[in-house]
Amino acid sequence: MLNFDLSPEQKELKQKAREFALNYVLPVAAYYDEIDETPMSVLKVAFDEGLINGDIPKKYGGKGYGLVDGVIITEEIAAAGPGIATTVFDNSLGMEPLILSGNETARQKYLPKILKDFKLMAFATSEPTMGSDVAGIRCNAKQDGDDYVLNGTKYWITNGGLADYFTIFAISEDQARHKGICAFLVEKDWKGVIIGKRIPKLGQRCSNTSGVHLENVRVPKENVLAQPGEGFALAMRTFAHTRPGIGAFAVGTARSAMEYAIDYAKKRHAFGSKISDFQGIQFKIADMYQKIETSRLLTYKAAWEADNGRDSTIAASISKLYATEAAFEVADEALQIFGGYGYTRMYPIEKLFRDARLFRIYEGTSEIQRMIISGYALNAYKPVMPALEDVPVHTKAPAEVNQPGKPETTAWRCRICGYVHYGKEPPERCPYCFFPASAFKSTMPGAKDSA
Ligand SMILES: Cc1cc2nc3c(=O)[nH]c(=O)nc-3n(C[C@H](O)[C@H](O)[C@H](O)COP(=O)(O)OP(=O)(O)OC[C@H]3O[C@@H](n4cnc5c(N)ncnc54)[C@H](O)[C@@H]3O)c2cc1C
Repeated sequence: MLNFDLSPEQKELKQKAREFALNYVLPVAAYYDEIDETPMSVLKVAFDEGLINGDIPKKYGGKGYGLVDGVIITEEIAAAGPGIATTVFDNSLGMEPLILSGNETARQKYLPKILKDFKLMAFATSEPTMGSDVAGIRCNAKQDGDDYVLNGTKYWITNGGLADYFTIFAISEDQARHKGICAFLVEKDWKGVIIGKRIPKLGQRCSNTSGVHLENVRVPKENVLAQPGEGFALAMRTFAHTRPGIGAFAVGTARSAMEYAIDYAKKRHAFGSKISDFQGIQFKIADMYQKIETSRLLTYKAAWEADNGRDSTIAASISKLYATEAAFEVADEALQIFGGYGYTRMYPIEKLFRDARLFRIYEGTSEIQRMIISGYALNAYKPVMPALEDVPVHTKAPAEVNQPGKPETTAWRCRICGYVHYGKEPPERCPYCFFPASAFKSTMPGAKDSA
């Protein structure tokens, strides 16, 4: 059975996140974007209100929120400030490999600390020379007794300049690509961890993005999250859980862009009417609305799949791909409705437009999502229809052939051009594409193949 209702607890959570977003995020989002800084005081309120780290399981003192709860909160915060939402939810990305790993000792050590002491945790697969090709990691992990020693640079790390802990993905020097990828929990204060300067960006500027350099960083065996060969799968399982959250960033951002555009369209006049009276504007709003609704449904579905123990990889990719592309289109059309004012920095649209652009890049670009989805559709998806050459589509009604008293006949499909021939035998050659009889296959059940 399908149920599109939120539970009473989820409705309460949504309301709480909305109030936080309107009271704490919206008033400061533009300012912190302008000065390129992260509002730590807002992050602290999110922490105190339990809107960050909600996904830490109850066993470790957390609230044990599911992904559906997470995307509900995320949409609200992103609607007020996409960059602040990225900052708030980066802990979920950073912690997810720890939660999914087999390392119970590390979970018991770090998760309660993150909950109690307002610690931030960042996720690091990307490097200066690779992002999409996770198996191409260069950061080196050399085993030394039970410990590992890390050398290399991680780049583009959200909250990199703020985090206390990092999930570092590296490659063992003994194995190539997927077989060598491993993961470690590294503390910021360990010897050899060097944080780079904050990277200046087009949008989401209040979200801190930095490089993290590792120089002979010794990681004890207790902090190994994935041994060589297990790290790639751990990163992919992480994304299957975190990509619906990016979908929710996109839904919230697009929702605000649409709401501002509707408000503007109802007030702006041209040619003696409100511009919202023009069908050209109404259709833009219809497209925005349907894209947001569709994005939200896909996002909820992906989150629901993960919450219900299913492999959410494909649903997560679809929600990320669709919602993030839709959000950019919505922000673009919203800016168009604002006309010249949309292009100024005095209205909120240009910022949403800049902020939305990032969604198509981080946590796997749109191209990578298309590779994942097409890989599934081409190789793993089980079709319902028979193979094309076996489709029983005839130009004569099946009842017309093989009637008692009529000469025995069958339908033969040319596998090249699709022509259907009726007769006991296939034709010598196809009258359309001239391929020989061997190109014909019987489409009548029980009849012999000519090949
Ligand atoms: C603001 C920001 C925050 C980020 N936060 C984090 C973080 O917290 N942690 C982290 O690890 N990373 C983070 N990233 C990195 C992000 O995940 C990567 O930028 C992204 O995965 C793309 O990698 P790349 O930039 O190296 O591009 P590349 O992988 O070099 O790709 C360049 C272009 O080629 C395309 N491309 C690559 N391969 C193919 C292919 N096979 N077929 C077709 N097209 C292809 C890509 O889609 C892209 O358009 C962040 C990035 C940004 C910008």
